[in-house]
Amino acid sequence: MFKLFLDPGHGGSDSGANANGLLEKNLTLAITLKIREILENEYENISIKMSRTTDQTISLSERTNAANNWNAHYYLSIHINAGGGKGFESYVYPNIGSPTTTYQKTIHNEVIKVNELKNRRAKEADFHVLRESHMPALLTENGFIDKEADANKMKSKNWIDAVALGHVNGLAAAFNLKKKTTRL
Ligand SMILES: [Zn+2]
Repeated sequence: MFKLFLDPGHGGSDSGANANGLLEKNLTLAITLKIREILENEYENISIKMSRTTDQTISLSERTNAANNWNAHYYLSIHINAGGGKGFESYVYPNIGSPTTTYQKTIHNEVIKVNELKNRRAKEADFHVLRESHMPALLTENGFIDKEADANKMKSKNWIDAVALGHVNGLAAAFNLKKKTTRL
């Protein structure tokens, strides 16, 4: 059984970034709920926990503690960027090496195939959720909320679903997840 911890960034009193009429916390939750839905509907032998499933305030320590106490096999944190750039980037903890970087490359490449965003590449950063999680971890920044071209995509349900599917395809490839067999 593959144990996946999904972490929609921010929530509750912490909206994350906001611009163009959008709040990061709502986008991260929508993408993450869709990732869970696709995985649970289409893949077998997977168990999923989420740091939040509603608009709740959850500290960073509460998030990593929940994943660590559950002994998750993988930690995936979903965020939206801000600060004037444009495009998609992903992060692992600095100098972490494989298999974390191998998972990053696989998932990054699957997401960039479908998200219609500029590729800002796979990167490293000393973020709490990457440092304090005891299992391989990845944080994705899915476009810039303050760049109108990116934000316009975020307003589309089809884009949210595509970004979720890209993450699912990456997880399936990285962890060799098997699709449920359909009975005819
Ligand atoms: Zn964020």
